[in-house]
Amino acid sequence: GIVVTGATGHLGRHVVEQLLEKVPAEQITAVVRDEQKAADLAARGVRLAVADYNAPETFDSLFAAGDKVLLISGNEFDKGRVRQHQVVIDAARAAGVALLAYTSAPGTLKAALADDHRATEEVLLASGLPYTLLRNGWYFENYTENLAPVLEHGAVVQAAGAGRISAASRADYAAAAVAVLTGEGHENTTYELGGDEPFGFAEYAAELSRQTGRDIAYTPVTPEALTGILSGAGLPAALAEILAGVDASIEKGELVVTTGDLTRLTGRPAQSLAEAVTAAVKG
Ligand code: NDP
Repeated sequence: GIVVTGATGHLGRHVVEQLLEKVPAEQITAVVRDEQKAADLAARGVRLAVADYNAPETFDSLFAAGDKVLLISGNEFDKGRVRQHQVVIDAARAAGVALLAYTSAPGTLKAALADDHRATEEVLLASGLPYTLLRNGWYFENYTENLAPVLEHGAVVQAAGAGRISAASRADYAAAAVAVLTGEGHENTTYELGGDEPFGFAEYAAELSRQTGRDIAYTPVTPEALTGILSGAGLPAALAEILAGVDASIEKGELVVTTGDLTRLTGRPAQSLAEAVTAAVKG
């Protein structure tokens, strides 16, 4: 079967939804922490497995030989994500799964955020399991789901200078994962995934202006200033620093992806910046 961890997360929901269009529901197992959160999936015939990356025993006998597994990276930055991911990789190896695909970060990304991903990739490669690295670029939704302050102040405040970024929608990254899980020949392959057209934050602000009829400008600030703004808005200081570090990487071009792997895997053009803004403004 096909097993998806993080199935009740934003990306995981897209993956399961798109899998349901391609394979019978009973071939899909959604790994979830909270069964209630996945009641809608169970109602549609998806199998549920309750497990937590922090409790290795919950992954005992969860996988079967021949399964294709999508390990969606966790979001608990303070709980040792590499150790968490290793729990899943160890259980998958013990079961003899056919493939373990992992949602990683672009190989060019040097920001601190990438450290857990690089270390997880090492664990996965050392396991000897057939693997696929889905090195996902940044999500459009990181920006488009946080429009309230932008509209309030008429400003896109980022610390990326004139840097550009190949963002793409979660739905497109999910489609790439589904192509790997339902297709053949993806063993021991690394995909660098991102949108078709990189853009800068001045372009993003201009697109927002065009579609909202408001005057929205890009206000570049220093990473230190952005850290202060984000923690002032209630983000934990460590997370604010990580996000400002990502912006510094964007300024250096570390989130530009030029491989074309995303559209090659999905077989269609990626959602554009204009389409992503439309979805957010209408949404
Ligand atoms: P979400 O935060 O929506 O989903 C994270 C998922 O991980 C949830 O399903 C959550 O379970 C699950 N999870 C977290 N901790 C554990 C645990 N201890 N045991 C089992 N499951 C756990 O993130 P997205 O879906 O948007 O993105 C997927 C991943 O991609 C993120 O977790 C993060 O690693 C990375 N990411 C990438 C970004 C990018 O721009 N490329 C941006 C942000 C994150 P539950 O549903 O129970 O909460």
